[in-house]
Amino acid sequence: MTIALVWFRQNLRLKDNPPLYFACEQADAVQAAYLYSDVPTYARPRGGASRWALHQALNSLSKRIESTFENQSLYVEKTDNVLASLLRLVEATGASVVYTEKRWEQGERLLEAKLKDALASRGVELKCYNASLLQAASAGCKADGTPYLVFTPYWKAQVKGFQENLRPVLELPRHMPPLQTPLPTTSVDTIELMPKIAWHTDMQAEWNLSEAGGQVLLDRFLHQAISNYKDDRNLPAVEGTSRLSPYLHFGVMSVTDIFKQALELKQSNLGASANASIETFLSELGWREFAHHLLYFHPQMPSKPLKASFEAFPWQADDALLTAWQSGQTGYPLVDAGMRELWSRGWMHNRVRMVVGSLLVKHFLQPWQAGESWFWDTLIDADVASNAMGWQWISGCGADASPYFRVFNPIMQSQKFDCEGAYIRQWVPELAKVPTEHLHAPWELGEHELKYYGVVLGETYPFPQVEHPFGRKRALEALASLKT
Ligand SMILES: Cc1cc2nc3c(=O)[nH]c(=O)nc-3n(C[C@H](O)[C@H](O)[C@H](O)COP(=O)(O)OP(=O)(O)OC[C@H]3O[C@@H](n4cnc5c(N)ncnc54)[C@H](O)[C@@H]3O)c2cc1C
Repeated sequence: MTIALVWFRQNLRLKDNPPLYFACEQADAVQAAYLYSDVPTYARPRGGASRWALHQALNSLSKRIESTFENQSLYVEKTDNVLASLLRLVEATGASVVYTEKRWEQGERLLEAKLKDALASRGVELKCYNASLLQAASAGCKADGTPYLVFTPYWKAQVKGFQENLRPVLELPRHMPPLQTPLPTTSVDTIELMPKIAWHTDMQAEWNLSEAGGQVLLDRFLHQAISNYKDDRNLPAVEGTSRLSPYLHFGVMSVTDIFKQALELKQSNLGASANASIETFLSELGWREFAHHLLYFHPQMPSKPLKASFEAFPWQADDALLTAWQSGQTGYPLVDAGMRELWSRGWMHNRVRMVVGSLLVKHFLQPWQAGESWFWDTLIDADVASNAMGWQWISGCGADASPYFRVFNPIMQSQKFDCEGAYIRQWVPELAKVPTEHLHAPWELGEHELKYYGVVLGETYPFPQVEHPFGRKRALEALASLKT
């Protein structure tokens, strides 16, 4: 009799879940388990929004296991020592094989290596599957065996393989035979991920972090939005992107499944423009792969610039500026809209992520790590690889970065990508009555006219904390000082 322990790590779904699928196919009895640890031994402790999102995703998984399979439940445990807990579970269940998924962060790889040795010495097998990415993060290196540092050549070299070698999407396991004496049923509440103060009500209303919730978003995106993705993806007031990032981060949805469905749509030939949009979408999934490729070979990426020269960058850390940015009080309406969307939804549109990031590191001269940490704490899709890559890209210190000297103009970005001001009006209601042509730079209106529209600068809405021409010049001087 083969008993299998399925260790869920970051792919919290039933559909297209290789370790779960193969355990159910191959073993006589299966126990599913999830272990949560706050201790930064192997992984970076999650931020507040991410803990909330994990709670939702685990709850959905747990309920789905119970409702889909007879006499089955997910065992969850909070632990200070994941390795010791796993070994204890192996002993308690009598498992002879542990099925799990690969993770690519350095600490998680170390944990897996230690587990493999510890299990081997007990005569227990470890079966590990890639469930999070289209290909192993370590794969796809250049012909000389070195990793890619620039996205375009990386993508050109991988895209054909991604399309042609896509593994089959696995359906739900047909059955999940329970142990004779299963582990006790434990509630996700016991790992205490929910905030003690209720700041999460808007997020609760916004997201349904379950496989069913993800499928609704995917269907909407594939049937309504994907064919205009190339243009609409830059417009924060339009639902032009998939909003699947939290589902991908927690593996509530499978990247292989999403990639395959988008590819099939492209093959159905919806016309040149729609096909170009689908290709752009596929390449965004490629950016996600690339982020993990970079992190695999540069584990220090979340804290250290990939371009070493940037370690000497003359940042001017300033708590008041950082707080103004975090709370959406910079005086730049698009930036403030984005920061407030982040606080409310735990998510922010990609174009706006770039604009708010640029303002922080360039006009405000705050170290990019401060922005990275804030995103880490407030995003529900907070991902070590994608977040670090995004911040290094914006700051010009990444391997494949937007050069530091390219300083986004926060007013022009606003005029271009929120030209009607709908996004700003949604998140910065105190400016709602300002006519659209002045909404992107309200300080250009005279005091009396502003008052007519209900705005008193410095009282109801801030002046720009750092003026654009000054901020731009100062950022470029800081860069020049770095070169000398
Ligand atoms: C400063 C900064 C920080 C970021 N931090 C994160 C993060 O912590 N987690 C995260 O998932 N994404 C991060 N991104 C990337 C991107 O902003 C989000 O993935 C995207 O906004 C999610 O929205 P969506 O699901 O509608 O994306 P879509 O446009 O629908 O794209 C589909 C999927 O592709 C992936 N993707 C798209 N763009 C990128 C990208 N630039 N880098 C990596 N993957 C991408 C995501 O998984 C996304 O869900 C960051 C970007 C920046 C500029």
